[in-house]
Amino acid sequence: MILPNIEKRQKNSSIHDKVMFLLNDLYTESNLSRDQLFFLLEHLSKEELPHLYNLAYKKKYTYYQNKVFMRGLLEISNYCSRGCHYCGIHRQNKVISRYRLSKEQIYTCIDEAYSLGYKTYVLQGGEDPYFTDELMEEIIREIKQRYPNTRITLSLGERSYASYKRLYEAGADRYLLRHETASKELYQHLHPSDMDFEQRRECLTNLKEIGYQVGAGFMVHTPKQTNQDLVEDLLYLKELKPDMIGIGPFLAHSSTVFKEASSGTLEETLVMVALTRLMHPEVLLPATTALGSLHKIGREKALKVGANVLMPNISPTATRKDYEIYESKICIDDTADHCRNCIESRVVGVNHQIDLSVGDPIYYNERR
Ligand code: SAH
Repeated sequence: MILPNIEKRQKNSSIHDKVMFLLNDLYTESNLSRDQLFFLLEHLSKEELPHLYNLAYKKKYTYYQNKVFMRGLLEISNYCSRGCHYCGIHRQNKVISRYRLSKEQIYTCIDEAYSLGYKTYVLQGGEDPYFTDELMEEIIREIKQRYPNTRITLSLGERSYASYKRLYEAGADRYLLRHETASKELYQHLHPSDMDFEQRRECLTNLKEIGYQVGAGFMVHTPKQTNQDLVEDLLYLKELKPDMIGIGPFLAHSSTVFKEASSGTLEETLVMVALTRLMHPEVLLPATTALGSLHKIGREKALKVGANVLMPNISPTATRKDYEIYESKICIDDTADHCRNCIESRVVGVNHQIDLSVGDPIYYNERR
């Protein structure tokens, strides 16, 4: 059980005071000890949520104001050689039909995304051996040649150091690879025995070392997840210092071994997004599609509690439904053009504004 009190009233006033004190401390220091974080997750109640959310919004506003960076998400393949127990496109799923986009299809989607104003393209997929280093290199070079002042983000799972380096040298700028969980035991529960906790972490350190802007992250309310596990996630992220942190609710998929498990809730996810903003004032924090799929204004709510990135779908409408990492995914019948407009009106509706620049983190130019 995670965050056991967030739907309840706080009965004890001294606990309320301590929780408020810790939230204020987190706001000023951007850090807390392991014990303090654990206390916070155990005792945070409905009473303190507005304060947490306000602090997180204020923190985001200080660094990024009400700007929302836009990234076009292109789902290039749902073939996957991995067997992650939570994921709907795991290798054993015989129910979904598999697809991969051709180079030409990818370029067509990117052309359209560019014409809609996107300056960042996220190429995401299962771990599909078809997309060799040679092929990815060619695709990256072509996109960069067509649109030099843009950013390419890859999200293609675990690859070797040499492969990451080669794709970086071809022009990829960013890489999203959620650590999924910072607890080894939980990692093993969520993944088959041929996947290795240390190896995933090593991928993240390799990506950083090579020079990518790196995105890590985790799901909220996976089977067997505890507050201790969430504390480990928060502390691991503090140590890794990624440029982006993706946090979404776990959504149980009917073609996985976790089909009977309960999914994450809106409030649980918002709490983790808000705490992450307080711990990482400058990080890029997406309002995830999973949150938008869980609740019709889930992403808007995330913007109100510290998120500052949106990743609208730019995949061909025909293949969207097959990229089913979880079910009830939003926008599967839409076009890139429709998603672009829909997002803009949602963002404006909650007093935010779309930012169509490449959207690097604010410290990025100083660091280079
Ligand atoms: N193959 C790539 C991309 C994975 S999909 C990789 O390994 O990084 C992107 C993210 O979706 C995953 O990292 C995981 O955190 C999330 N995800 C997968 N299945 C999910 C589910 N059932 N519910 C919610 N999020 C899920």
